[in-house]
This record gives sequence, C-alpha cells and structure tokens, in this order.
Amino acid sequence: MPALEQKQIDHLAAMMDERWAREFREIRSLFSAMDEDRQRVTLGESVDEATDDALLVKLSAVDDPVIRQNLQDVRDILGARQRIAAGKYGECIDCGADIGYERLLAYPTAKRCIGCQREHEKRKAGR
Ligand SMILES: [Zn+2]
Repeated sequence: MPALEQKQIDHLAAMMDERWAREFREIRSLFSAMDEDRQRVTLGESVDEATDDALLVKLSAVDDPVIRQNLQDVRDILGARQRIAAGKYGECIDCGADIGYERLLAYPTAKRCIGCQREHEKRKAGR
C-alpha cells in the first residue's frame, strides 16, 4: 500500500509551489533593491526579464547569505519534485521507511524519516 495518497501528495506539492513562489518573490525583491547596473552585472539581465529557472542557474554564483538560503530552499523543492516524479516521495532516502504525512505537512521537502534525520544531524555536528 502506498504511504501517501495521491491527494496528499497533491496537497504537499501545492504547498511547495506556494513556497517556491514566495522564495522567488523574495529573491526578486532583493534584486529589485539593487540598482539596475548591478542587477545586469550579477544576472546578465534585469531581474524583471529573467525567468525563475534562469534565476536559479545564475544565482548559484551570487555571494549573498540571504539569497543562498532562498536558493537552498528552492533546491530542496526541486529535489522533492524529482522524488514525486520518480514515485519516491515520502520515502526516507536513508532507510526507505515512510516519512509520514504529518511530518511532511510540517516539512514538505523532508528527505528522511525523523530517526534518520536525527542521525544525519548528529553525524554532521560531529564532523
Ligand atoms: Zn529513515
């Protein structure tokens, strides 16, 4: 039996779409605050002309902690979309267990079950 029903996946995907839109609104407003010359130097075009996907590629080179955080969130969403497309969404990438709808509602881009996430963070902290 699949862990998530299609309508649950749809709901989580819609939450991620909203978050995606919010992240890009933030990114665009950060750039809009710059003068247009700097936008063009950074992006090669003005931020109003760039699509989300074009921004995503170019932003990798931008050295700004806020933008980097936005970008990380957007990449997490991309990863989750790929897992949805592959039919792997909602499965822990470490142990394969179901992540669980409740956890995904709180954290739709979760890649790991709560147990593996704790282990992962312990390993990261110990490094
Ligand atoms: Zn796990």
